[in-house]
Amino acid sequence: ASKTPTVIIIGAGMSGISAAKTLHDAGIRDILILEATNRIGGRVMKTQFSGYQVEMGANWLFGGGPVHNPVLEMAEKVKLKTSLNDYDNLTSNTYKQDGGLYPKTLVEAVDKVALARDDFCAKFSTLLTKKVKRDVDISILAGQRLFKQEPKTPLEMVIDYYHNDYEDGEPPKVTSLKHTYPRNEFVDHGEDPYFVADPRGFEIVVQYLAKQFLSSLKSDPRLKLNKVVREIIYSNNGVAVKTEDGSIYKAKYVIVSVSVGVLQSDLIDFRPKLPIWKRLAISDFSMTIYTKIFLKFPYKFWPTGPGTEFFLYTHVRRGYYPLWQHLENEYPGSNILFVTVTAEESRRVEQLSDQEVEAEVMAVLKTLFGNKIPKPEDILVPRWGLNRFYKGSYSNWPDKYNQQRHDQLGDPVGPVYFTGEHNSNRYIGYVTGAYFTGIDTADDLLGCIKNETCRGYNNQHL
Ligand code: FAD
Repeated sequence: ASKTPTVIIIGAGMSGISAAKTLHDAGIRDILILEATNRIGGRVMKTQFSGYQVEMGANWLFGGGPVHNPVLEMAEKVKLKTSLNDYDNLTSNTYKQDGGLYPKTLVEAVDKVALARDDFCAKFSTLLTKKVKRDVDISILAGQRLFKQEPKTPLEMVIDYYHNDYEDGEPPKVTSLKHTYPRNEFVDHGEDPYFVADPRGFEIVVQYLAKQFLSSLKSDPRLKLNKVVREIIYSNNGVAVKTEDGSIYKAKYVIVSVSVGVLQSDLIDFRPKLPIWKRLAISDFSMTIYTKIFLKFPYKFWPTGPGTEFFLYTHVRRGYYPLWQHLENEYPGSNILFVTVTAEESRRVEQLSDQEVEAEVMAVLKTLFGNKIPKPEDILVPRWGLNRFYKGSYSNWPDKYNQQRHDQLGDPVGPVYFTGEHNSNRYIGYVTGAYFTGIDTADDLLGCIKNETCRGYNNQHL
C-alpha cells in the first residue's frame, strides 16, 4: 500500500493545480490530487465542435495593464493562440427587436452614458470602501440609481447587459457594487481581451502548470482521475476521503477546490457537518451560469469583414439572446456563430432541448437576416448549471454578502482547507483568481504544517 500523503487536493482545475504546485515547491511532495472527471482543467474546458476546438468555459484572458498577469505569461510560454477582440464595433451593430440596425450615433450616446455610469460606480465604490463602515454595500443597480441614470429602455438595457451581466454573469440588481467595481481584473491586468482559439484549448495552460511538478499527466501516482469524492470525514487526527467507487484515502489535511456551486449541492458530505458559519458563508454566495451557444451553418449570412465580429440583439426581455460573436477572424470559413446568455436565461435554456433552443435562436436570426437563412448543421448548448461537478459557471458577489462572510468562505475548518476562484481576494470569477487563490490556500496550509499555527483549529466563529 502506498504511504499516506500529507495533503489530498480535491479537484484538478486551475486552483487545485496551483495549490498542489505551491505545496510541491515548498517541499511537500507527498500529495494526492483526486479529480472527478477524466481530465485536468476544470472550468477551463475545450470541446470539439464541427471540426473546430471551441472553449465551453473560460475564453478570455486580459493584458495590457500595470500588473503582471501570470496566467497570460504561461499562455505566452505555451504560445497559446489568441486574438484581440474589438468590442468597439458593437455600437455599429446593434439590432432592434424587430430587425434593422439602430443608428450608430444613438447607440454611441447610450454607451457614453453607460461608461459615465461605470465610472461613477467605480468612484462611489472606492468611497464606500474608504469612508463607510466595513459591511455597508449596495447593488450595482442602486449605484446606477444614485447616478440618476438607471437603464430603462430595451436599448439601454442591452448596453447595460454588455457592461455588466456579460462580465458578472448576473444582473446589476443582485451584484455587489463594492466588491465588483472597480473591476480589478481590468484595472490590474488590463482591458485588452485576448480571445483563446487554439486547437490545444485554453486548458493547455493548466496542463503546463501541472507538468511543472507532475512527471506525467497520465501516470504520475499523485494524480488520480475519475475519482468522485462523496464524503470527507475529518477530525483533529486528519481526514478520510471517500470516493464514489468505494475507495478511501487518508491524509493529514485536505484542500477542497470544487466550485461554490458544488459546495452548495449535496455531492460531498462533510462529517461532522461543517459548522454553521461555514455553511452560511457557502449558501449565501452566488454561483451564476454563463452559456455560450454555438451554431454551425453551411454558409455565412451575417455581415463579415472588419468591424463585424460582435453584434447585439435588443429585446424587451432583458438578456434574451443579446450578444453574438462570429469566429471568422479565428477560424476563417468555419461559419460558426455563438450567442451568450446568462443567469436566469441560462437556467431556462438549460431546461430546454437542443431543438427548442435552436428554434428560439433561429427565430431571432430570421428576424435579423430574413427567413431564407439556412438551418444550422450543428448546435452546442453547454449546461454548466446542471453538471454536478460545476453547478454553474463562476461565482458572483451578491450585494448583501459582506467581507467577513467572504473571509469565512475561505477559512479552514480543522484539517479541511478551501480554495477556488470564489475565494479570490481580487479576481473572483476569473482563471487568474483561481490561480492566485490556489497559492494563497497552499501558503496558509504550509504555515500550519511548518509552524504549527493552524487557523483551522483556531477559528471559532459563531
Ligand atoms: P474548477 O475549474 O471548477 O476546478 C474544480 C475541479 O474539481 C474540477 O476539475 C471538477 O471536475 C472537480 N470536482 C468537482 N467535484 C468534485 C468531486 N466531488 N470530487 C473530485 N473532483 C471534483 N474565467 C476567465 O478568466 N475568463 C473567461 O473568459 C471566463 N469565462 C468563463 C466562461 C464559462 C462558461 C465558465 C464556466 C467559466 C469562465 N471563467 C472565465 C471562469 C474560470 O473558468 C474559473 O474561474 C476557473 O477556471 C475556476 O477554477 P477552479 O479551480 O476554482 O474551479
